Amino acid sequence: MAKQSRLAKLQPATKAAVARVYVLYTGGTFGMAPDFSTPGHPLRSMELDKLREELPEAEDIAPGTEVTLERFDRLLDSSSMTPTDWVNIARKIEDNYYNHDGFIVIQGTDTLSYTASALSFMLENLAKPVVITGSQLPLPTARTDAKLNYGHALQIAAYKATDLPCIPEVIVVFADKILRGCRTRKMSASAWTGFDTPNAPPLGEIGEHVRIFENQIRPAPPSGLDLQVNSELDPDVLDISLYPGLRPEHLKAILSLDSVKGVVLRTYGTGNAPEDIDFLDALKTGIEKGNKTVVNITQCPQGMVEMGLYAASIGLLDNGVISGLDMTPEAALTKLMVTMGNRIGEQVKLQMQINQRGEQSQNLFDFNFKTTQANDKPFSDFIVPDRRFDPTALSAAVLRIKKLTATVADGTENPVLDVYMNFPTAKADTLEREDHPRRLHRIELQSGATFDVVQQLSKERVKNVIGDSDVVLTFVASPGVKFGFEKLSLSIFTRT
Ligand code: ASP
Repeated sequence: MAKQSRLAKLQPATKAAVARVYVLYTGGTFGMAPDFSTPGHPLRSMELDKLREELPEAEDIAPGTEVTLERFDRLLDSSSMTPTDWVNIARKIEDNYYNHDGFIVIQGTDTLSYTASALSFMLENLAKPVVITGSQLPLPTARTDAKLNYGHALQIAAYKATDLPCIPEVIVVFADKILRGCRTRKMSASAWTGFDTPNAPPLGEIGEHVRIFENQIRPAPPSGLDLQVNSELDPDVLDISLYPGLRPEHLKAILSLDSVKGVVLRTYGTGNAPEDIDFLDALKTGIEKGNKTVVNITQCPQGMVEMGLYAASIGLLDNGVISGLDMTPEAALTKLMVTMGNRIGEQVKLQMQINQRGEQSQNLFDFNFKTTQANDKPFSDFIVPDRRFDPTALSAAVLRIKKLTATVADGTENPVLDVYMNFPTAKADTLEREDHPRRLHRIELQSGATFDVVQQLSKERVKNVIGDSDVVLTFVASPGVKFGFEKLSLSIFTRT
């Protein structure tokens, strides 16, 4: 029988709950107990009644809280979890959403960060806390961390009873940390502080008091938007980590499989990979012919992919690899599954580079313009940005021109090619004005030479001329110059 709380006894039985919390027990170390009927006393999952008995009373932790406790039909070691289990968790939350204020998912720690990331992307318009927790030692053991982890998870999920701020996100509460779920990684197989967000600040900390950093919390969706579950996950994705000596033919074989539709590629440093032609060719064939989506993330626990910064990442960029910015492997993989499962075609690339749930600190918009060859007049093209593009949040802009060639008439002195933004009427006489405010960049030309341009643009300059509708680029060359290029793109990073 469940033990009676001392405080509970003082409450009138009919008092309405201040907070209602739904707790889903899926398995893992947290809910295990030694089986004394078997020699060696192996750990086995407890049944729900036994778990209920062992859990601290809600009334002692968050007075006025009513807990609904349910379990998975089949309790799982989290290393056996699959995307179908994430869908089952999301459905349980959906079914109980409107009659509860907060949610706790108890699961094994091994794949906890995958669940946290997947749920973040699956739960659209989430306005209530979904707290995921587990433990390093089982609940019924003397030195267990399960009681504290559960207690803190409950304090946060029952925010209406504890007066803590509401965190309308999927979060991980473990030991002394409150973390954004889609930024977490399992950092230790045995330390109390098993989880962290090495590439993002915590959402709060737990000691004698629970402190929530309100400025780190994402705003709740506008009221009136119902919770939606993105439940179609495409499992045809792979996570491949580079290492010196990886054989291109192995990569090629994997990327030639029809059943592989997306790949998370864990590269070095700021997103670098071998410049080896066979390696790049394997990617190119997979992306262009096989229509695969390849997302570049870094193997480093901290920092961000900045493709184009070194020659070693230009090959990836040129062959259609997209940037995963500073996403964790767990976030990149599950975001790809959810995005590919729920959206179509070109949208996948756009969606992957835009922040959805705080999983990355920057958005990246790649604007690809028309190309031109042997052009002797000013050349202009425009892009209509996605509605989520916010030019006021601009943090960097990189111009990339592939295979720029120019032929220069004899006698032309100091030939140049100028690039302007939002100035379609730019003409040769504008070239005279060295300091023209709409000029983003000046390229010095040499007749007959073919070269690539990768240029970080002045943030201030771009900010001053970029509007909130079309983005127009105009190229003006010195009289007597014919120019052309194979590819023209502008990558704009905005803060999230
Ligand atoms: N193997 C266990 C699991 O992930 C480990 C744990 O719960 O900590 O289910």
